[in-house]
Amino acid sequence: MRTQVAIIGAGPAGLFLSLLLDRLGIASVIVELHTRDYIENRVRAGLLEYHTVQLMQELGVGGRVALEGLEHGGIELRFNGRGRRIDFRDLAAGKCVTIYAQHEVIKDLAAARLATGKPILFEARNAQLHAIDAERPYVTFHHNGVDERLDCDFIAGCDGFHGISRASVPAGVLTVYERDYPFGWLGILAQAPPASQELIYVHHHRGFALLSMRSPEISRLYLQCAPDEDLSLWPDDRIWSELHKRFATDDGWKLTEGPITQKAVTGMRSFVVEPMQAGRLFLAGDAAHIVPPTGAKGLNLAVADVRVLAAALGHFYSSGSPALLAQYSATCLRRVWKVQRFSWWMTQLLHRFPDNNPFDQRRQLADLDYLTGSRAASQSLAENYVGLPFR
Ligand SMILES: Cc1cc2nc3c(=O)[nH]c(=O)nc-3n(C[C@H](O)[C@H](O)[C@H](O)COP(=O)(O)OP(=O)(O)OC[C@H]3O[C@@H](n4cnc5c(N)ncnc54)[C@H](O)[C@@H]3O)c2cc1C
Repeated sequence: MRTQVAIIGAGPAGLFLSLLLDRLGIASVIVELHTRDYIENRVRAGLLEYHTVQLMQELGVGGRVALEGLEHGGIELRFNGRGRRIDFRDLAAGKCVTIYAQHEVIKDLAAARLATGKPILFEARNAQLHAIDAERPYVTFHHNGVDERLDCDFIAGCDGFHGISRASVPAGVLTVYERDYPFGWLGILAQAPPASQELIYVHHHRGFALLSMRSPEISRLYLQCAPDEDLSLWPDDRIWSELHKRFATDDGWKLTEGPITQKAVTGMRSFVVEPMQAGRLFLAGDAAHIVPPTGAKGLNLAVADVRVLAAALGHFYSSGSPALLAQYSATCLRRVWKVQRFSWWMTQLLHRFPDNNPFDQRRQLADLDYLTGSRAASQSLAENYVGLPFR
């Protein structure tokens, strides 16, 4: 097999890239480890930045998100038993965010990709990258009982944090920057109408909590917990009891309960590799960086990377110049580090740290008071939350 760009992984990064390349007339083959059913049902992110939704519209895959997505013009920050709203539309030039589950995005993108007749090779086992420093790199893998070789001009490593792309870069080329957090999130999906139309971020002395939603009937709720929390110690009634305590307000606000259909613990990590390129291999999305979920940025940052990569590949194929490809890593990393900063900042602002230092608690509350009382501070939060502009 031969193509121009071999894409490893059919997550948000790989699928968006394939559609962006298709629009530029650049051929690609997607090599995906799992089945279509698996990738279309894996529950992960749920919040799309303004620019991500716009890109879906531009690519002709925005029909369902326009109909079924829930537009949110703000969030609530709740602390000291009171909620204060940050109004995105007012503070961020009319922009908003949209609640639409990642696996629904994947369904829309995969359907559009397959409708072009271009391949997604599902269940491709043991993918390996070869000659990434040469003019003609190639990928080998096992598919439908056959050992395959895919020759290409470039490889896009879009295979997430645990994929093989980053691991294929020779030792000494990449520098890792990382930070682990001493807590995780216990997340549930519940068949209960969300108690608020917008997300609620809670700072509480018992620990952080977040109210989000999947639809007008399904709530998504999170509790700060230990990074290795034992889920068997959390029967449903204990989860609801803890959620009620953390969301409690002075005015008797009530959380809606319903049957819990899913429970999981998610770890929290900040991680970046530099550069995001090695020879003809370009890393994008979680393959290159991870953010803690507090700012809801992981998926959106993956999309931002592949916009840059597609434009650089388009420039290469139309002009023969590798100039934009050479700048890929530096261009992406400017945004990556701003998003890392924002995600870290939201995380340290809202979580209870194990040493529970009273000074830090007071500082967090002062920060929240300032943030919700100052238009300049609220505006900074709003413009980061809806997504920084592309320049
Ligand atoms: C539990 C959980 C909750 C999250 N919640 C949020 C959230 O609320 N908000 C947010 O913004 N982000 C969230 N994220 C992060 C977000 O989901 C990711 O940032 C996003 O999926 C990154 O997209 P990606 O395409 O880079 O990688 P992925 O989505 O990981 O996609 C990688 C693809 O590569 C495939 N693959 C892996 N290895 C191989 C291989 N060897 N060969 C071929 N294919 C391979 C995988 O099967 C997968 O389809 C969450 C992540 C997790 C795990």
